[in-house]
Amino acid sequence: MASQNLASNQDAVKVVKFGGSSLADAEHFRMVADIVRGEDSRRYVIPSAPGKRFKEDDKVTDLLYKCYEVSADRAALKEVFSRVRERYELIIEGLGLDLDLSAEYAMIESSIAHHAGRDYAASRGEYLNGVILAKYLGYDFIDAVSVIRFSDNGSFDSELTNTIMAETLKRHERAVIPGFYGSMPNGTVKTFSRGGSDITGSIVARAADAVLYENWTDVSGFLMADPRIIDNPSVINVITYKELRELSYMGATVLHQDAIFPVRFAGIPINIKNTNAPECPGTMIVPTTDDLSSVVTGIAGKVGFSVLNIEKDMMNAELGFGRRVLEVLERLGVSFEHFPSGIDTMSIIVNTNDIASCRQRIIDEICRVCEPEVINIEDGLALIAVVGRGMVKAKGTAAKLFKACADADINIRMIDQGSSEFNIIIGVDAKDFERAQKAIYAEFEK
Ligand code: ASP
Repeated sequence: MASQNLASNQDAVKVVKFGGSSLADAEHFRMVADIVRGEDSRRYVIPSAPGKRFKEDDKVTDLLYKCYEVSADRAALKEVFSRVRERYELIIEGLGLDLDLSAEYAMIESSIAHHAGRDYAASRGEYLNGVILAKYLGYDFIDAVSVIRFSDNGSFDSELTNTIMAETLKRHERAVIPGFYGSMPNGTVKTFSRGGSDITGSIVARAADAVLYENWTDVSGFLMADPRIIDNPSVINVITYKELRELSYMGATVLHQDAIFPVRFAGIPINIKNTNAPECPGTMIVPTTDDLSSVVTGIAGKVGFSVLNIEKDMMNAELGFGRRVLEVLERLGVSFEHFPSGIDTMSIIVNTNDIASCRQRIIDEICRVCEPEVINIEDGLALIAVVGRGMVKAKGTAAKLFKACADADINIRMIDQGSSEFNIIIGVDAKDFERAQKAIYAEFEK
C-alpha cells in the first residue's frame, strides 16, 4: 500500500526550501510545518541554518564561521559555540521536542577544534536545523554529504549528484535534506557560496522531477527594483529564468544566481513565497510565458566598473585587433563585462576591483601588441540593467528609457543592447546611480 501511495504521489512532488529567517526560531518552525503539511505534495524540504530573529541578531552561519576563526583558542571557541548551541536548544525547547543533540554538539565543537575546516564548520548550521526539522515533521533525514557531490577541483558535479540524488529520493517518500553543503570525493565537507541552500533546493527539485520548486523566504516575491533605492517597489508576478539571470547577475538578490541552472535544465518553475504571508502568490519563475503585459520586468544595477578606452585610426581595417586586446585581458585573468565599439574606437567595461593589481600592465601590454593612439582607463562607472521579455519587438522602450534619464539630467556614458532584445544596459556616473534607477522605475512602473 505504501509503495502504491508513493507511485501515485510521484506526479505531484513539490520541493520546498526555507531560508534562514523562516527557520530562525520555534515560532517560525511551526509556521514552516503548517506550510509543509498544508499540501501533501510538499515531500522534500530543504532548510537553511537559523537566520536573524531581530536586526542586531547573528545568523548561525556567521557564528559558525567565527567558531572556525577562533578555533585555535579553545576558550573563545567554547564561548562562540555555546551561542550556536543555545539557538538550537531554544528551538527544540520551544517546539517541545524530545531530542537530545548533546552528543552532536560535542562532536561538532571538537571537530572544529581539530581542524575539520571552514566549510565543515559553516555546514553544521544547516545540518543541525535539518535534524531538528526532520524530527518535528516526522520526515526522514538525508545528510547532504551523501547526495551532493563536488569534483576534485571543487566544482559542483551536477550529473553525479543528480544520479545519486534521484536514486536516494526513490527510497524516501518524505525527507528533509539540509541545504548549502555536500562532499568532496575524499569525503570532506564542501559548501556552496553564501546563500547556497537555494542551489540545493534546485538540485533536489531536478532529481525529484518536481512539478514546482517553492522557495520560501521573508519577502512576498522578487521585487521590480532594489527596495533600498526605490520605496516599496512592486512585486514581479511572473519572470522567466533568462530575465532572472540578468537581474541576479546585476545584483538583485532573493535567489542565489546559480540556483537557476538545475531547474532550468529540467524546465521546473520556481515560486518565491513569503513564510510570513503564505497567502500571497509570490513570484513565479518560469521557462517561458505568453504574458508580455509589461515591457519592463525589473531593474537592477551595480557600481564599481571602469572603462578601458582604446582609439586607433583605421582600427576597423586591422584584422585581429579585438582578439589581441582580449588576449591581454585573458592573460592577466581579467574578464570583461561589455564591449561596445565604434569604427576606430573600442571601450571595454571591466570590474574596477578586478584590474586593481594590473592597471598599468593592461595599458603597457595593449600598447605593445596593438599600438593604439589613445588608451586610458576611466573609473566610476555604474551599470543599470533594464530587463523585460516584453521589450522584444516593442517600439519606443529605448526612447522612454533615455528620455527618463535626460529629463532627470543624467548623462548616459554607455549603451548596450543585444539583439535578443530583452535587456538594455546603460552605464552612468556612479554619482547618478540611484537617481537614474528612480527615474527609470518611475517611467516604467505605470
Ligand atoms: N546558511 C548559509 C548562509 O547563510 C546558506 C543559506 O542560507 O543558504 O549563507
